[in-house]
Amino acid sequence: MSAIRRLPPALARKIAAGEVIERPASVVKELVENALDAEAGEIRVELLDGGKSLVRVQDDGRGMDREDASLAFERHATSKLAGEEDLDRIATLGFRGEALASIAAVARVVLRTSDGGRPGTAVEVEAGEMKGVADIAFPRGTCVEVRDLFFNLPARRKFLRSGTSELTVAAKQLTLVALGHPAIRFHVAHGKREILNAPAVAGLRERVFQIFGKDVLDRLSDVGYADDGYHLEGLASRPPTGRPDRTHQHFFVNGRPVRDRLLQAALQQGYRGLLERDAHPEAFLFLTIPYEDVDVNVHPAKSEVRFRDSQRVFSLVARGLEASLRGGPRVKEVAPLSGPLPAPPAFKVEEARPAPLFGLPEPEAASFRPPRVLGQYLSTYLVAAADEGIYIIDQHNAHERILFDRFWEARKRDQIPRKAPLLPILVDLTPAQAIRLETERAALDEAGFRVEEMGGRTVALKEYPDLFGPDAAREAFLAVLDEMEGEDKGDRRDRILATLACKSAIKAGEPLPREKMEFLVAELFKLDDKPLCPHGRPTMILIERGQVEKGLKRQPN
Ligand code: ADP
Ligand code: MG
Repeated sequence: MSAIRRLPPALARKIAAGEVIERPASVVKELVENALDAEAGEIRVELLDGGKSLVRVQDDGRGMDREDASLAFERHATSKLAGEEDLDRIATLGFRGEALASIAAVARVVLRTSDGGRPGTAVEVEAGEMKGVADIAFPRGTCVEVRDLFFNLPARRKFLRSGTSELTVAAKQLTLVALGHPAIRFHVAHGKREILNAPAVAGLRERVFQIFGKDVLDRLSDVGYADDGYHLEGLASRPPTGRPDRTHQHFFVNGRPVRDRLLQAALQQGYRGLLERDAHPEAFLFLTIPYEDVDVNVHPAKSEVRFRDSQRVFSLVARGLEASLRGGPRVKEVAPLSGPLPAPPAFKVEEARPAPLFGLPEPEAASFRPPRVLGQYLSTYLVAAADEGIYIIDQHNAHERILFDRFWEARKRDQIPRKAPLLPILVDLTPAQAIRLETERAALDEAGFRVEEMGGRTVALKEYPDLFGPDAAREAFLAVLDEMEGEDKGDRRDRILATLACKSAIKAGEPLPREKMEFLVAELFKLDDKPLCPHGRPTMILIERGQVEKGLKRQPN
């Protein structure tokens, strides 16, 4: 007998609802977002018993006609998305067409609405079942009443906390929304008690004053910064005083309150060295980012987002704060965080190579002279002359070979030299890379990379081999991570070193100054087995002296 059964539609509805509607505060959030999307000028929220017995949200927005009012409760019925392409540039808070359906599946709901035409409409839905639609007299706008949340799901109802606790959660939620929309009037009441009454004001400062009062406003500084289509605005702690924890850090992306570790880290970065010990900044930061650069479709309650270019977002916040707090330029005028590669080869090794353990020291070694560099050919090959002939050396393969040897030596001594960048380097991983990361930390560490997860699939490179600039470090890290794919074959550790060497080596096509050419040739000729790079390609060819002389019809001396 099969254990798998098809769920009856009514049950399926409840299960899906569980993702979006957890508690009264989620109902509040969804209904208020709908009011905002309807371009309300005023939003009134009333709660009873922390919202458990009633959440009522009324707005003076554009309202709905009779047809839309009944359609609104259908799952995946939305006026905010037309086609797939709209998903890439969502300008509204809602877009899934699921909230009203999810709420109505687990409560008793009455919606009253009018788009200004006559008459208005009332729709009643209970536990997902349409009870009736009627004409009513109603002013332009919408009022949604949600009673007895989870009345049909006793197990979930039991899971709700006391009225006071639920109210606290809802109030925090509403506070954030009100902060995000100073131009809208918010009125919130719990029974007869007024919780918030915030008339429309000009901006964030006034709204913070309305909600938190003068003391809070006084300890905050204005933040403002612009970087080519990305904007940062808001208020944040005036150094050196901060708060004991991070609970006072609020971020909004295109008007949407979000939780995001990347933004937290950027905030912290912006305050480096400015706050007293153990203090954290307080902040209300509003980021405006082109819609197509933010994916909001990643979380059922839409409280998380994913950035297309997290490095840029990080830098917007970190630099924006730095500039605002330290009085730097308010518009970015410096190059991005990633700089050019540092001058290779930056790898420091002891000059003397260890003496051979067996056999006599070779007397020629001391007087050994590498071939004399004549120049560079096609910005890719070094041409060098020696008694035995003319060497043509592939600059990339040769450097790779030299670096591989050094990495190998360093690994043996368990100390690939690392550096910690001033700003952590953010790297966005694919799902596969993210999974690999979890199992490969030790191997990555051995290769000189220390990584910290930032939430989602973004990680911060905290340390990397002391050979790379920030961009190259990111590239090398990803290459090493990809090298770890598949089974752990015996030579995997060496392949990882080879990848590091390859990524840090001078590239083909790069013009080199004479000192670098000489350094490369000297280092290469110190190696015992120089002919092949770690990937097995030749590092050099020799045109023998005899060949030259014969070809040019000269007698050998
Ligand atoms: P979404 O907001 O994702 O579209 P919802 O289930 O929250 O999905 O709402 C469904 C639709 O009902 C909305 O797209 C909108 O057209 C309409 N609607 C909901 N609430 C309101 C409101 N307060 N004012 C006007 N229209 C509303
Ligand atoms: Mg909605």
